[in-house]
Amino acid sequence: MSGNRTFTMLKPDAVENGHIGAILAKINEAGFRIVSLQMQQLSRHEAGLFYAVHKERSFYGELVDYMTSGPIVAAILEKDNAVEDFRTLIGATDPTQAAEGTIRRLFATSISANAVHGSDSNENTAIEGAFFFGAKEQF
Ligand code: ATP
Ligand code: MG
Repeated sequence: MSGNRTFTMLKPDAVENGHIGAILAKINEAGFRIVSLQMQQLSRHEAGLFYAVHKERSFYGELVDYMTSGPIVAAILEKDNAVEDFRTLIGATDPTQAAEGTIRRLFATSISANAVHGSDSNENTAIEGAFFFGAKEQF
């Protein structure tokens, strides 16, 4: 039986700093199966849409600048309790507050350049996954 799914992006700082392999290894070691995977650079329009929920926040412009600054790796992941377990694996938004051993604690550089995104609900997993992957790209 297949488990629940979550959506992740390895953000431009993680890619730029050469952490793709190490982060994917952590993800696999934590028991997630990779369902879909691709590398691309977001346009300002795409990054703005992806983070539209934050468009009234003071950091929105900075967030769009940052998310378009280089390529990202997008992925759909599968595991029981995927959304909650992945948020635990990545740690707090601010890497200085993230627990020891979490992906953000290990690999993030700042609160904005925080290495990875993780969906916050099953509903947003479906929306975010469909933003990057069609049915034929989900295995
Ligand atoms: P994500 O949605 O990327 O997984 P998150 O759910 O932990 O992160 P959100 O509150 O959804 O955190 O914020 C989205 C992203 O906006 C953060 O990951 C971070 O890159 C950026 N961000 C959030 N708060 C700030 C802030 N105070 N200053 C700068 N950037 C911020
Ligand atoms: Mg979020």
